Amino acid sequence: MKKILMILVTLCLAVAVSACGGSKSGEQAAPSGSGTAPETVTSGIDYMALVNKLNPLPDGWEEALETVHFTNTVGDDVEVEKKAYDAYLEMKAELENEGVFVDLDSARRSVADQERIMNDFTEKYGIDYALKTVAKPGYSEHHTGLALDLYLIVDGKDIVENEDMIQYPEIWSKIHAKLADYGFILRYLDGREHITGYGYEPWHIRYIDDVDVAKEIMEKDITFEEYLGAVKTGDVTIDLGSSELYTQDELKEAAVQIKCQFAGWEGCELHSLRYAGDENNTEENIQWLNELGSGTEYVQCAKFLMDFHSPTEGSDSETWKPDEEYKDYSWWLARTADGGFEVVSWGFGR
Ligand SMILES: [Zn+2]
Repeated sequence: MKKILMILVTLCLAVAVSACGGSKSGEQAAPSGSGTAPETVTSGIDYMALVNKLNPLPDGWEEALETVHFTNTVGDDVEVEKKAYDAYLEMKAELENEGVFVDLDSARRSVADQERIMNDFTEKYGIDYALKTVAKPGYSEHHTGLALDLYLIVDGKDIVENEDMIQYPEIWSKIHAKLADYGFILRYLDGREHITGYGYEPWHIRYIDDVDVAKEIMEKDITFEEYLGAVKTGDVTIDLGSSELYTQDELKEAAVQIKCQFAGWEGCELHSLRYAGDENNTEENIQWLNELGSGTEYVQCAKFLMDFHSPTEGSDSETWKPDEEYKDYSWWLARTADGGFEVVSWGFGR
């Protein structure tokens, strides 16, 4: 793995390599952060704590956290919360009985490490790129020590790159079937990006130290956020329409980018998202997006339309009218000659 990729993958936050980027600029700023005060850890850690793009690591967590270190098969030092590591070892042994071999790519990363990486990226690539590729310090589940990124060992070979790992769905199914028995859940489900803020990651598992709850979550096929009642969710309609410019996979990936961004809008409930048609890929629109993208040379663009509901209470009133159905809200994505779609702008008006 290339060094830079290694850093990115090790973070799993990051994610030039994963599905969720950020936006360059929006006509309307997304509400930032969470209004809720972080819980304080007094003794031990809360294995059911929710840490995501809206919920930071609880205060005192790092002081209370007990971890172990080990070296994985590719020679990296990996740090994991103690109980999670014991449970992982038991699961790993059971998987080996079934001919499935795994190891840990990364697990815990401190908030300070995250800040250092954010600073490094900012220095090297500028703040825009850093914000787009590196998770905000304090808001990564990897801070907990309870989030583990697995990798596969197939026929004695380490399979560590995300795009390679995704090629083994049958192995992941076997692994996922075992998770709950050891108190783990799968965290970033396919199609639930608007809730978790991340694209599908079969390798990212989370220890919750409660087999019954883990079984309930896995059997119901729901996200941790949904189990905890931390998000408002209803039926979501995704309509990728038809296109002569883009494949359905490309449009799906574009929709994932939008949904990841949307997940950061606290209290908003997604209802529908649809591709607005090839006719929006005009020279004029691409030029407009290039201006917004400050120097990026996009060659194609795509527009989506979204219906969503704003939060009823505790909402950011400067951003949203409370308890309102927003219809035909525009999302603009663009891509360069050799890149994937990224969200460039959103809002009413264009
Ligand atoms: Zn991860």
